[in-house]
Amino acid sequence: MSYKALYRKYRPQNFDEVIGQEHVTETLKNQIKSGRVSHAYLFCGIRGTGKTSVAKIFAKAVNCPDSIEGNPCLKCEICNEISSGSSMNAIEIDAASNNGVDNIREIREEVKYVPTKGKYKVYIIDEVHMLSTSAFNALLKVLEEPPSHVIFILATTEAQKIPATILSRCQRFDLKRIPIKSIAGALANVTLKEEIKVEEKALNYIASLSDGSMRDALSLLDQIVAFSGDEKVTHKMVLDIIGTVDNKMFADIIKNINEKNISNCIEQINEIYLNGKDMKQFVSQMVEFLRNLLIVSSIHDSEDILDMSTESVEELKQLTQIVSYDKILEYINEFAALESKIKYDSQPKITVEITLIRLASLEVRVRMSEVPNEKKVEQVKKQSVKKIIDKALPEDIKQGIKMWKDIKEACANPLKSMLVDTEAKYYNNKSYCIVCSDNIIKSYMEKNINVIKNKIEDILKKEYNIKLMTKEEYENEMRNSNESSENEEPNKDDEDMKNVEEFFNKFGVKVERIEN
Ligand SMILES: [Zn+2]
Repeated sequence: MSYKALYRKYRPQNFDEVIGQEHVTETLKNQIKSGRVSHAYLFCGIRGTGKTSVAKIFAKAVNCPDSIEGNPCLKCEICNEISSGSSMNAIEIDAASNNGVDNIREIREEVKYVPTKGKYKVYIIDEVHMLSTSAFNALLKVLEEPPSHVIFILATTEAQKIPATILSRCQRFDLKRIPIKSIAGALANVTLKEEIKVEEKALNYIASLSDGSMRDALSLLDQIVAFSGDEKVTHKMVLDIIGTVDNKMFADIIKNINEKNISNCIEQINEIYLNGKDMKQFVSQMVEFLRNLLIVSSIHDSEDILDMSTESVEELKQLTQIVSYDKILEYINEFAALESKIKYDSQPKITVEITLIRLASLEVRVRMSEVPNEKKVEQVKKQSVKKIIDKALPEDIKQGIKMWKDIKEACANPLKSMLVDTEAKYYNNKSYCIVCSDNIIKSYMEKNINVIKNKIEDILKKEYNIKLMTKEEYENEMRNSNESSENEEPNKDDEDMKNVEEFFNKFGVKVERIEN
């Protein structure tokens, strides 16, 4: 018997074997059980999430005389015929190669005839977004009045390209990207059945590379098994075959930047380059690596969020012992900027090297500034001289609130990026209140309060009493103060005075209050 690709061999045969799409399969099973099936469905989702597999299972289940709980029996004649592709009850059409109006007209002719076996003719149109406009119009005519024995299942990776008139006639199901853990679990089952020896770490890695597509994961496993022969499939082997740089490589580069070891950085980049790695891909993977590192350093139980093996998370945790949170943020900013910069770069390797050198030298600069020296003392003196400015009055606070956007803009990264979601809000006449989205941002700002204060005073030329609050704290405070002011008796004199002021203001006369 000829070799059958794993993804064909392990195609799900009933709804319960479909991985990660319970929200779709359960609904379809219920519809079949209750006999309330629709005449047109649209299955959307990235490649390899099971759109056509689910469609074929559905075609069997609606026709199978012995269906069990909405699943096909897989034993009867109809089930077997649909599985082997010889049935007239399930007709698969690839719209990528049959996208003309004539192809759809043919279908319109065919649908008139009732099936000789089973209840329904199920037309599965894959890549339906490829149909021409006239073909869509022809399809619309059938969908407007579908014969009772016909069901259309349209499958697409690009739902936004489907005309609204078609969309409105279909019951839509979105198939999700399959989580890495589920893919790894399914791969483990396959390797067990196939008696393939494999490390768990290797399976997790294959799963993470497949980007939510079961088909890609199985194809990848196929390739790797073909390469490994009878040897046990290891993580290292997968890395070698796929040609991606290991997390360890990223970690080493970050360590070297952190230790300002420029020559090692350059050597590593050279090695990656010589191994045929695409520099642009390297940079975007570095951004992802740093993002994971940031999550590990700020969240206690990060395993679930990261969808990573415990081993990898442990490795990241070790790195956060050496590299501080602020530095990780700084690196992310730099590499994210680099990512867009090298998109059209003809010499990406050089640009990457320059960035690494700059980052490593930046570390030197930071170190220097941490050591008190004469220059620094001078700076402090300068700052204290600068400090002799007027204290902010209530109108200065109002002005400050208006100017917060400009102040944020004037800050340097990484502080600038941390301030993105902050707002200056009115709190009282004495303090300049900055509201942060959460506690992480607030504590970051607390650590950098002097930098922020200096920036504010630089721009507004007044000395402010700064108050940091989280959104929640601010809202609570405001609610409390509203409640207490509601309980207070309105001040009659104040009201009268206001009226007098307003009256005179109309004539351009400013009224000044004299305190008794
Ligand atoms: Zn059956």
